[in-house]
Amino acid sequence: MTTPITTSVFDLFKVGPGPSSSHTIGPMKAAFDFRQRVGQLTEPEQQRADSLHVYLYGSLSATGKGHGTDRAVVAGLLGWQPETTDPVALTNLLKDPAERYPVPVGNQTVLLGPEHIHFERKRYESPYANTMVLRLMAGNETLAEEEYYSVGGGFILRKGEPEPDPSAQSVPYPYSTMAELKVQLIQHHLTLDALLMANEMALTGSTRAEINARLDDLLAFMHRAVRRGLRNKGVLPGTIKLSRKAPLLYGQAKSLANSSDSFLLFLNAYCLAASEENAAGGIVVTAPTSGASGVIPGLTYLAKRHFHYSPATLRSGLWAAAVIGFLVKHNASISGAEMGCMGEIGTASAMGAAFLTRCAQPAGAIETIEAAAEIGIEHHLGMTCDPIGGYVQIPCIERNAMGAAKAYNAYLLATAGRASFQKISLDAVIKVMKATGRDMSKRYKETSQAGLALSATEC
Ligand code: SF4
Repeated sequence: MTTPITTSVFDLFKVGPGPSSSHTIGPMKAAFDFRQRVGQLTEPEQQRADSLHVYLYGSLSATGKGHGTDRAVVAGLLGWQPETTDPVALTNLLKDPAERYPVPVGNQTVLLGPEHIHFERKRYESPYANTMVLRLMAGNETLAEEEYYSVGGGFILRKGEPEPDPSAQSVPYPYSTMAELKVQLIQHHLTLDALLMANEMALTGSTRAEINARLDDLLAFMHRAVRRGLRNKGVLPGTIKLSRKAPLLYGQAKSLANSSDSFLLFLNAYCLAASEENAAGGIVVTAPTSGASGVIPGLTYLAKRHFHYSPATLRSGLWAAAVIGFLVKHNASISGAEMGCMGEIGTASAMGAAFLTRCAQPAGAIETIEAAAEIGIEHHLGMTCDPIGGYVQIPCIERNAMGAAKAYNAYLLATAGRASFQKISLDAVIKVMKATGRDMSKRYKETSQAGLALSATEC
């Protein structure tokens, strides 16, 4: 077995401001980490500090402006945390180019302005597409420097950081692939929920009741984003001037409630609502990323409102969704900058298919959940990431609705007939996703250098 999966469900589903977990939440967390580190310099060093510079490379440089990476970095340096950030205050950062922000360095402060955030165009040797370097200076002398990688879904790595010690994060039922997970389930006669709950309790030290309450909170955060998006009208921020559409679709769905279209209209409205909130910089839940934060919220809202699933069933569905996200993150990547959109919407769609399957078939076999997720990924393979203007709007918002619709169909396809009809395993399709992502030109991986992004002039 390779290193076992030790991701917490609460790291996969993170509350934070939109529009992009890798370009907003990740950089905010990296900047916050740097702020903590410079606070540990010696006092003489802190006293000499006179400037702080942030260098953004790769996809962070290419689409960071549209994604609000500069504002996220300032917020992190000011000590803000994603889950408690006020989205309006975040939007207002850097609005006035003359404003300078005091960043504490121990007992001193250095002033930070837009001239200290560098969107670097030159090539930078780095193992990850989203790379940022933070540097604390005294004149021309570097007092502290750290290099961070934002690897999707708001997860960050720091250069030189020792690999987490697997023994320090041991789980009772280790697995790194779907095949290994199935062996654990059979050997220990466990349900998927029971296995994942036991691992989560070991990882977080929380009780079953605490974890259930936090899962309910996550669903509540997701559904608040949907409800806000169903109400909020107007034009989204940015140069595209894209009008919000969710309230319109919701009105249509209600007026056509007895037509055969209404089910899909409601689902479209819910997914667009959460995605439009994300695009507006509102508080969303990464599922598994902010760009894909409309699929699972839309489907869970539909499941709650239209199928009347109980809180326990919704939680079971969320576990099934989570394990698919864990497997893709561990064995490929959930980052648009690494995999293109198949890593974001493709994964979200597979998670959604697993969610629906688990909710509809409480005693259903893991093989059926696996088949649904496999279909979800299979039909997103090769999907590029080419957001117009670097904004998480076109194609992202509609893509969430399309990902949810495919998730629903994947669930229907997987639950028809026997799971053994499925000839491709989930592990195999995840490997294909990884290989396809590696082969994909970086122009199609969240750099806005090709594809739809080149249609920007027509908008
Ligand atoms: S195109 Fe897909 S991967 Fe790219 S920013 Fe939009 S949602 Fe994310």
